[in-house]
Amino acid sequence: MKPDVIVVGAGAAGIFAAWRAASLGANVVLLEKTARIGTKILISGGGKCNICHDGPIETVLAPFRQNEARFIRPSVYRFPSTQIVPLLTDRGIEVYTRPDGRIFPVHQTAKDVVAVLKRLLDEVAVQVYFNSPVEELIVVNEKIAGVRIGHAESQIRQGAASGSQYGAKALLSDALNITDDHRTIAVDELMADRIIVCAGGSSYPNSGTTGDGWKWMRTLRHSIVKTRAALSPIYLVDPQVGWSGVALRDIVLKGKAGKEVARWTGDLLFTHLGVSGPCVLGVSRLVAEALETSPVRLEVDLRPNTNEETLTEYFLKEDPKITISKFLQEFLPDSLIAPFTDDCQVDPLTPFGQLDRKARHRLVTQIKSWFIGDVRHVPVEKGEVVAGGVSLDEVDPKTMESKLVSGLYLCGEVLDIAGPVGGYNLQAAFATGFVAGESAASS
Ligand SMILES: Cc1cc2nc3c(=O)[nH]c(=O)nc-3n(C[C@H](O)[C@H](O)[C@H](O)COP(=O)(O)OP(=O)(O)OC[C@H]3O[C@@H](n4cnc5c(N)ncnc54)[C@H](O)[C@@H]3O)c2cc1C
Repeated sequence: MKPDVIVVGAGAAGIFAAWRAASLGANVVLLEKTARIGTKILISGGGKCNICHDGPIETVLAPFRQNEARFIRPSVYRFPSTQIVPLLTDRGIEVYTRPDGRIFPVHQTAKDVVAVLKRLLDEVAVQVYFNSPVEELIVVNEKIAGVRIGHAESQIRQGAASGSQYGAKALLSDALNITDDHRTIAVDELMADRIIVCAGGSSYPNSGTTGDGWKWMRTLRHSIVKTRAALSPIYLVDPQVGWSGVALRDIVLKGKAGKEVARWTGDLLFTHLGVSGPCVLGVSRLVAEALETSPVRLEVDLRPNTNEETLTEYFLKEDPKITISKFLQEFLPDSLIAPFTDDCQVDPLTPFGQLDRKARHRLVTQIKSWFIGDVRHVPVEKGEVVAGGVSLDEVDPKTMESKLVSGLYLCGEVLDIAGPVGGYNLQAAFATGFVAGESAASS
């Protein structure tokens, strides 16, 4: 058996790479280490799957770092959300777009999305082999020649699920019980002139992604941009264990290393180890970078739409009988009022009218910048994506082919690409996968 194209990794990028190559007539083998396709899609978007992002392509590219946006631009134009979505809706997934542009299934879940992706692969006769981990790439005279395959005894299924985002741990445990097929490849080596590597990153290692692609690429002299946490929870030096499960809504979270290094608007959730939630995920990459050279502290602005002057005027003008506690209830959960007022040394039962100037100043300052902890760690393994990966300078953005090894294509998170929350990461994986599949099939 010598297929035209071997695709390594049946995640978001690999599924579309294999589907596109086979749609163009190539004989495609897709090798997957685990017992199922699309494990990360199964746990994505809290089990709902934020499929991709709506809107003009330049708007989709804008939140990526400049070099990443430049690199994925040709793929995202080649395979935009307006082509991704119909592939799903034509097969029964109803979708809607949230006001912020995020596209989700209406009633169905991530499992239904993955079921449709499986159908897509079947429709074009991609041969998918499970529990078939690639161990090594075979290169002869700087040209790709094949892969060496190990034999996994479903070890991925047995690992304890780890993960902390929005019930991701439970979702992952659930996903690990799914076995798409027992078809395992019988050979130790499989040869092909074109190989697409889409083995993902290294977060949620129990889902199958353990940084294998980076190991292979290093041996092929590709540069790996330092990998770091992104879209991760943050662990604090001194977490307030009693606050675990308490949420702050519509705040601005600021990361400060002397000066401000990161800020994000949204909700925040206290956890037993620190903080999580959308705005924590939003700052995590920049916080992880800053933490390498200096301590980072986290502060929240509890009234982001009101400046200090307006807040001060409010205290002076409002009913003097209203207590501080009553006022704080508008935006702080009850359980945090005492710790908050302790921190700024104000008695929560003091009415506005009895607040002296210094106490008022302390209160206003703290509402705008409440210190919630020093950062201890940003765990890379708990991130929705990993920043860093194969250097984009060494891959052709129009074809996804390696500039160092002929016939080798790279796509998805194995590359140095990491977008924010919002469907951007799946979209980047789908689009780069599509282009890799197309180029490999037509080269
Ligand atoms: C909890 C969570 C929620 C998320 N939610 C969203 C969301 O709602 N929207 C969004 O846009 N993004 C989301 N993401 C990010 C998104 O899932 C990833 O960006 C995307 O899956 C990356 O696709 P990929 O194909 O590059 O890698 P992956 O999807 O990780 O796929 C890599 C595949 O390669 C396989 N593999 C690894 N090594 C080998 C090997 N040696 N041999 C064979 N196979 C191998 C793995 O088992 C895996 O199946 C989320 C991520 C997580 C963890």
